[in-house]
Amino acid sequence: MRRSPLDAWIASLVAADSAGDPSAAFDRAALERYQLRQLRKTLRLARTHSAFYRRHLAGAPEELRSLEDLQSLPLTTADDIRANPLGLVCVSQDEINRVVTLDSSGTTGSPKRVYFTRADQALTVDFFEAGMSVFTAAGDRVLILLPVERPGSVGDLLATAMENLGAIPIRYGPVRDPAEALRVAADEGATVAVGVPTHLLRMARHGLEPLPLPRLHSVLLSTDHVPAAIVNAIETAWPCRVYNHYGTTEMGLGGGVDCEARRGYHLREADLLFEVVDPANGRPVMDGERGEVVFTTLTRTGMPVIRYRTGDLGHWLPDPCPCGSELRTLSHITTRVAGQFALGPGATLTQVDLDEAVFAVDGVLDFAARVTRPGAAAELQIRVQVAPLRPLPAAHDDIALALHAIPAIVRAASSGDLDSIDVIVATDRVSEPTLAKRSIAVDAQ
Ligand SMILES: [Zn+2]
Repeated sequence: MRRSPLDAWIASLVAADSAGDPSAAFDRAALERYQLRQLRKTLRLARTHSAFYRRHLAGAPEELRSLEDLQSLPLTTADDIRANPLGLVCVSQDEINRVVTLDSSGTTGSPKRVYFTRADQALTVDFFEAGMSVFTAAGDRVLILLPVERPGSVGDLLATAMENLGAIPIRYGPVRDPAEALRVAADEGATVAVGVPTHLLRMARHGLEPLPLPRLHSVLLSTDHVPAAIVNAIETAWPCRVYNHYGTTEMGLGGGVDCEARRGYHLREADLLFEVVDPANGRPVMDGERGEVVFTTLTRTGMPVIRYRTGDLGHWLPDPCPCGSELRTLSHITTRVAGQFALGPGATLTQVDLDEAVFAVDGVLDFAARVTRPGAAAELQIRVQVAPLRPLPAAHDDIALALHAIPAIVRAASSGDLDSIDVIVATDRVSEPTLAKRSIAVDAQ
């Protein structure tokens, strides 16, 4: 197994910063000294130029003596960004090269905006190049199934990174028509594909017309949690290996990526400092214990964030990675703090429970879950898109059987908290091909 290329990449960034030998081996202690230097710089920048952080950090110690001192600083939330995104910006407006506007959910009702300078975007391109080289080499043809049209969009930055790596980017965009995307993959001789889990699943399970198998050796799934059932379905359809990427817009679009061991992400530790904390009090949890993922930017100048709450739940894998990396490994993210619904006492249903059950059923392309009558005897409604060649009654029965094996559903059904499950199967699309994270919809009580 090959060691994650992120080790050498991060070692070279640390060495460059301290005028050391750029080919020196990875050294954890040197990385942590670098992180502390960058953290102090980021705090100075934020206190000097961000109106929000000047207020937010008013009671915090002026200078951090160690990385552990970071825990004395307050957390930053999505609502802090929504309330006044410009208050977090540390450069003049004309230095901002890209603004990303995210959903308008949340308590303030205003959209979340994240601002990047050209240098911030270059850092992301650099990470994409290093991260993709886990499974991509010069000469690979990389099909990009993420938004590519606007300059600075995630797909556009990835395409630049692939050119820097000597690979050939194929700019496609999110998958609306799986048959067409498959034809492009074949015609262009794609060897690597990067996209949204359900978009790649729809391509892998598309059986309408005999299309040539893509020659993909690797697939990278991004933008949402990756159910094992989707990985299995893709690896069954095509002779390839599926990898996970973890990144959010606030992280600068890229955060971490699987190595060949594929058991969790190695992280972009020279640019981002990650913590896993107890969501109730912000204190770090023990390795192996689940908590909320929180990160601090170390090299961003446009809009640095300090101890930003991602809302994602994960844990540190305590044992060393079999790939030999000295970077830490964060478990794959499957659940969000808000992405769970309590059907009844001891019966918390998560999107990933549903994903693992429903996507494991042959022919399932996509589905949407909704809880109606929450609080009383609830009804769970599952609308499923099934591949056209799969007989609908058989698919319906398999899905119903799979749902009734989910422990939270078994418990809620036996206690009477869940009254019924309504499974609707059809060949129609159940959601638009967006990049939004999938979650259980809950009707108002
Ligand atoms: Zn590894």
